[in-house]
Amino acid sequence: MAETEYSKCVFCGFCENTCPTLHSTGERGYGPRGRVRVVGLLLKGIVTPKTVEYLYTCLLCYACLKPCPAGVDIPKLVVAGRQLLTSKYKEQNSNNNLKAEMMRLERADA
Ligand code: SF4
Ligand code: SF4
Repeated sequence: MAETEYSKCVFCGFCENTCPTLHSTGERGYGPRGRVRVVGLLLKGIVTPKTVEYLYTCLLCYACLKPCPAGVDIPKLVVAGRQLLTSKYKEQNSNNNLKAEMMRLERADA
């Protein structure tokens, strides 16, 4: 789903004028095009220090849908991005738990 919506975006920026969070912050990452880029990075497994903030400050208000010539459903993409992020952290967490358990067992063997 995320891949399909992401691939529709032509990065024209027509959506940016309508976004309340971009207006209030003046920072592109808080706008629809910025959020598309964030999800694009997530699809490549890249998380930046601002990924969570950019995705979780989206109001899912759909104001960016009308001006988009490509019909990108940004709220849907943002929700998919949040899910990608959650599964990435769950996977990381379970790997960390596994490592901790292995270390504990190694210590118990010694
Ligand atoms: S989401 Fe739509 S309007 Fe916004 S940059 Fe992509 S193609 Fe352009
Ligand atoms: S759905 Fe998100 S990105 Fe689109 S206009 Fe609303 S706050 Fe901005």
